[in-house]
Amino acid sequence: MAAVAGSNVVAFKSAAKFGDFCDRKNFQVRQWSPISGGIGSVQAWPCIGLQRRSRRSFASSGVRAQVATVEQASTEAAQKVEAPVAIVTGASRGIGKAVALALGKAGCKVLVNYARSSKEAEEVSKEIESYGGQAVTFGGDVSKEADVEAMIKTAVDAWGTVDILINNAGITRDTLLMRMKKSQWQEVIDLNLTGVFLCTQAAAKIMMKKKKGKIINIASVVGLVGNIGQANYSAAKAGVIGLTKTVAREYASRNINVNAVAPGFIASDMTAKLGEDIEKKILETIPLGRYGQPEEVAGLVEFLALNPASSYITGQVYTIDGGMVM
Ligand code: NAP
Repeated sequence: MAAVAGSNVVAFKSAAKFGDFCDRKNFQVRQWSPISGGIGSVQAWPCIGLQRRSRRSFASSGVRAQVATVEQASTEAAQKVEAPVAIVTGASRGIGKAVALALGKAGCKVLVNYARSSKEAEEVSKEIESYGGQAVTFGGDVSKEADVEAMIKTAVDAWGTVDILINNAGITRDTLLMRMKKSQWQEVIDLNLTGVFLCTQAAAKIMMKKKKGKIINIASVVGLVGNIGQANYSAAKAGVIGLTKTVAREYASRNINVNAVAPGFIASDMTAKLGEDIEKKILETIPLGRYGQPEEVAGLVEFLALNPASSYITGQVYTIDGGMVM
């Protein structure tokens, strides 16, 4: 059963808040636009907006007035350009939470999806709003078609579109193949693979009309190399990788980039339940000798979702695993 909770603030409340959206160095605001322009030579996400605020004092009050007018005009222009709308599934905890916060901080309007952890998800939305951003919290099971439809509708009703989809929600039901019940197999396939299919299909309908979009699927290195005790999970993640490449081919002509990120072991609730003994064994297989952090995965996802340099990347799988698989 889907539920929307707490929707929210208008992004650009004040110049002070607006500053939170800015590249700290240039004091410029990242905006979604398919056209060229901005800081780089080829920009899918041109930076327009606030000019650097000089603290030098000008001799003439005429110059000061001119600077004020330019600042006001550019603030108004930036306010009119829409920020990208991002949906992050499973954003109440772990990697999804870090991704939602990173995208919110970068200026996206973010739909924060969760299944059970409503309080945690609300906190994520509040944190995005504290940066001056917009967020909607949406409770729904993304393995269910009706919930996925309601989730997409919620984003479209709130903000008119969907520009970025991060398929992150996932579960494990680990056990050896011989002991694996059909229900353990099915639960993992339903969420980790069918959920990605449902969300991708629903979001792509909107993106293809706009001829613009970014879809990033959180797979796993286990989908590339397998793992004892994870027949269900590795099959689902391998499926996500195949799905990523196929959808990338089908939608390339519509300017929709589809990529997968394949993390190794990342510190989260999912890996916390493995226990110390297993953790010790795992660490021996990681050249960098540590688990990754959700924020490190979020940085890669943010690059693929927002950085102009990612515009020419589609159908790829990026491992982020401390060198485990090479
Ligand atoms: P996590 O901490 O266990 O968080 C899982 C998230 O998925 C939570 O927000 C949870 O929401 C949500 N979720 C669970 N069932 C859902 C459903 N039916 N519908 C919608 N959302 C649902 O997991 P994580 O470690 O951050 O993993 C995130 C993704 O990265 C998963 O796809 C996972 O397979 C992948 N991954 C993780 C690692 C790792 O080492 N952690 C490695 C490789 C890949 P609630 O809080 O409401 O339950």
